[in-house]
Amino acid sequence: MKTCEIISVGTELLLGDILNTDAQFLSQELAKLGLSVLHQSTVGDNHDRLYELLEQAAQRSDIIILSGGLGPTPDDITKEVACEFFSKDLTLHEESLRRMSSYFTAKGLVMPETNKKQAMLPADCVVFENNNGTAPGLAMEKDGTHILLLPGPPRELKPMFYESAVPYLKNFSDKVIISHNIRTFGIGESAMSEVVADLLDSANPTVAPYAKDGEALLRVTAMADNNDDAENLCKPVIDEIRSRLSDYIYGIDCNSIEEAVVPMLIENNLKLATAESCTGGLVGKRITNISGASKVYECGIIAYANEIKHRVLGVSVDALRQYGAVSAEVAEQMAKGALEVSGADIAVSVTGIAGPLSDGTSKPVGLSYIALADKNNVWVKELNTGHTNRDYNRFVNSSNALNMVRMYIEKTL
Ligand code: ATP
Repeated sequence: MKTCEIISVGTELLLGDILNTDAQFLSQELAKLGLSVLHQSTVGDNHDRLYELLEQAAQRSDIIILSGGLGPTPDDITKEVACEFFSKDLTLHEESLRRMSSYFTAKGLVMPETNKKQAMLPADCVVFENNNGTAPGLAMEKDGTHILLLPGPPRELKPMFYESAVPYLKNFSDKVIISHNIRTFGIGESAMSEVVADLLDSANPTVAPYAKDGEALLRVTAMADNNDDAENLCKPVIDEIRSRLSDYIYGIDCNSIEEAVVPMLIENNLKLATAESCTGGLVGKRITNISGASKVYECGIIAYANEIKHRVLGVSVDALRQYGAVSAEVAEQMAKGALEVSGADIAVSVTGIAGPLSDGTSKPVGLSYIALADKNNVWVKELNTGHTNRDYNRFVNSSNALNMVRMYIEKTL
């Protein structure tokens, strides 16, 4: 199998100004093509360091994919260095120049002289048209090593990858790799790994556990000659995992718990309301991120102040005084209050100490109470994340609220 490596070019990546999402995208897509990515590197816009990296890469990899540094300014040097490394001269590529000047004309602009640099390409390369920007990408080969150059902006790189790089790379791959992500909630990564310990040793498909923002997921990855064979390898393993972790699994290949919960609410024709304190509307935001939420989401009440908890949600002054705002009793009354105000079928509430500072009581940062009420019952969950990170606590609290909705619908609450 051909080996592949990714070189991301850009000083702003090294400075941490931007996140290297291109490398993530390329790694994922190359794996789907059955190409093993064995190295990823990031280098600044520096001639010598990029040249040195190309020397190393060419010794160990068959295919080198570079992203970034194809712009018109003098610090964009990727193409020039790659061509120097391959001893290829740059000549004007008339077709690219024409495309670029129509790109500017279409926007009512005159192409700046500096952009002509982007139409200078090695004579024997495969040109990748850029339908979303100016810089063409390209592929070139020397002594069996292939170099692909792609523009840095993701909205240019991604379509160019699919339109031009994939057809070029398909020639090098005779295998397909397929991955499925099994998303769980309510079980830690180690506990989950124990339940499927024997499966973690499997070679094809591989089963790998990951922890992610208070959740745990299992990735099942198979390699085969074609899609169907790869799917057939994954299926029995996914079925087995499903049978062992059923109550914890909220979705397969879905991106978030809200992506699973909103369709469940729609399917069950259930209207939801939320009452949030420490999460400040995050539960509502996550629900309304999902298209179709208006069919099931009635309202969200952000009752941050105790006064509002009392006045809007009907939380009793006694409960607030006796147990404090972060308590099972208040969470329960918040959920019941939201149910009453909205007339929804179910309501969830969250009250907690997100941190990093304590609320001045003896209660620990990271403590929260999440409640779900329907017309007959109310369930309360106490959670202590053990973390003082505000973003983490708020996110995990909101996930727990969404998970309670899932469990309610699945009747596992
Ligand atoms: P341009 O013609 O826009 O200059 P380029 O190919 O020269 O494109 P860069 O100058 O390296 O690309 O980067 C331009 C922008 O593209 C960056 O400011 C950043 O927003 C985005 N970008 C570059 N590299 C990456 C990356 N690896 N991951 C995510 N975004 C990136």
